[in-house]
Amino acid sequence: IERSRVTVIGSGNWGSVAAKLIASNTLMLDSFHDEVRMWVYEEVLPSGEKLTNVINQTNENVKYLPGIKLGKNVVADPDLDNAVKNATVLVFVTPHQFMEGICQRLVGKIKPDVEAISLIKGMEVKMEGPCMISSLISDQLGINCCVLMGANIANEIAVEKFSEATVGFRENKEVAERWVQLFSTPYFQVTAVQDVEGVELCGTLKNVVAIAAGLVDGLEMGNNTKAAIMRIGLREMRAFSKLMFSSVRDSTFFESCGVADLITTCMGGRNRKVAEAFAKNGGKRSFDELEAELLQGQKLQGVSTAKEVYAVLSNRGWLEMFPLFTTVHEICVGRIPPTAIVEYSEHKPKCC
Ligand code: NAD
Ligand code: 13P
Repeated sequence: IERSRVTVIGSGNWGSVAAKLIASNTLMLDSFHDEVRMWVYEEVLPSGEKLTNVINQTNENVKYLPGIKLGKNVVADPDLDNAVKNATVLVFVTPHQFMEGICQRLVGKIKPDVEAISLIKGMEVKMEGPCMISSLISDQLGINCCVLMGANIANEIAVEKFSEATVGFRENKEVAERWVQLFSTPYFQVTAVQDVEGVELCGTLKNVVAIAAGLVDGLEMGNNTKAAIMRIGLREMRAFSKLMFSSVRDSTFFESCGVADLITTCMGGRNRKVAEAFAKNGGKRSFDELEAELLQGQKLQGVSTAKEVYAVLSNRGWLEMFPLFTTVHEICVGRIPPTAIVEYSEHKPKCC
């Protein structure tokens, strides 16, 4: 039997950790080639060196995951076509805003029978309506695409602290079990559920709630307010998901991808951190500016996701049913002040 070849498309903070996890497993699994190819969006470091060369020389992503060895079987490749040429297994893990362009570049470049998984938290909104990233991949490339989401702050998994994750699959349980096998380690426990939309929407929507949680932190509102925001946010996540896809299961919200990811992101994520700074500055410095200053090249997903969710809500006449999601977007674009995050609840939520 031909052994599978894995390529990871993306090499940011989580992308690098995903490559490390997978590379530790391909060394042990007979059904996979040892090498894990990682496509790197090339950039020149302040030292004048190319990031790809430095990763291959030091075995470390010095920009997005400094101090962590990726495994000698991880090979960084700046050429997207070359990186996917021989792959039979594709792992997509870039910030979601770059995926449409990447998919366009991949059309006709990949093997027809590849299996794919998306670790990307986000969605696209087009003229025809909203499109989850796994659907974008499936539709544009004509391949099956599962998802993996969970309470997974990358820097913690990089140092092998215990966490869990959820694989969402559509029909094929065997394919899902292969993903579980490829990602699971003693410190990273993966469970598969047959609810790809539910899993992906959990991962996507919690980033909007994390912005709200960060605003509450910046306003120094305390723990009760933050817990209230998280509860209301979880309720809007479930309501939105079910309106989008009636197949979404309640039980998915109790998996790692649901309530656990919501908690960890609202406690320690990047969306929370930048939103806190935004509120502390009274909304006077933009999210873009704060993102560049605080994250040094890493990307926020919550601000653009809030905009995308808002577009869906306004198109469908649902804005009033989702006061938290609506308010987060209006604060992000400067239409209302950060303090509105705690004032909005005076307009009684009508959903659920
Ligand atoms: P990141 O935030 O570190 O993003 C930076 C990456 O984007 C870098 O690899 C950079 O080279 C790349 N990039 C910049 N401009 C680009 C362009 N024009 N085209 C293509 N790539 C470009 O990335 P990440 O943390 O790996 O996040 C990827 C996805 O994983 C996101 O959807 C995120 O929500 C999700 N995620 C992140 C974490 C985490 O803790 N970091 C955990 C779970 C899920
Ligand atoms: P942030 O992008 O807010 O850091 O969230 C990371 C994450 O998705 C943890 O599961």
